[in-house]
Amino acid sequence: MSSEDAEDLLHDSVIELFDLSDYSSTLPNDAKERYVAKLNEVQCDCPYVIENEYWTSSTQELETILPSVEFGDVWNYLVYRKQFYTGNDMNNYKSCKSYEIIFGDGLFFEFKALKLTNNNFLAKAKVHHSMAFSLPPLRPWVAFNPAGGVITAHCDCIAGLGECCSHVGAIIFGALVVNAQKTTLTVTDQPMKWLRKSVKPVTYSYLYCVNTVTNFIVSLNS
Ligand SMILES: [Zn+2]
Repeated sequence: MSSEDAEDLLHDSVIELFDLSDYSSTLPNDAKERYVAKLNEVQCDCPYVIENEYWTSSTQELETILPSVEFGDVWNYLVYRKQFYTGNDMNNYKSCKSYEIIFGDGLFFEFKALKLTNNNFLAKAKVHHSMAFSLPPLRPWVAFNPAGGVITAHCDCIAGLGECCSHVGAIIFGALVVNAQKTTLTVTDQPMKWLRKSVKPVTYSYLYCVNTVTNFIVSLNS
């Protein structure tokens, strides 16, 4: 067997570890190789082929399933993560405003998540093109580690191969919002609190001290 044949065999065996979707199979070779490497990082099949029954969109279950994604996780990915193809920081400040997509009228929908047996998490959603509602919605997905950090991400939009488009950003913000909802309780949700009665007797030492210092300053200036 030639070394080229052996390389092909090895390459194919890596792909066979994971089920690929029709979409991923149509990617150009280098993009497909990168896509498979991302699946390998997360250790899961292509999210587009994972059946519906494994995902949940229930708010209560999302709060249980999703890890604690904090704003630092958003920033670390959208700004500081290295781009795969260039090695430069993502520096995607524009996507830092992609929370606006979540609040856009009907733009962001079918937000779902699942927990993998290796304790990583997948989150996905559908996002309408803001200028072309008639086109099929985009399908970004993001993989999180148990600490809430982004492992990797993908989107089937034109910029999706860059792994940091605004649709990916919207997913990360979606997970952040879920986490904020479960950690931020309103005043009426929290146990009732009362100010403790002070048991410390009132003294005049502070006033004495202020007077002493004031007199000292006055004496210095006179
Ligand atoms: Zn996208």
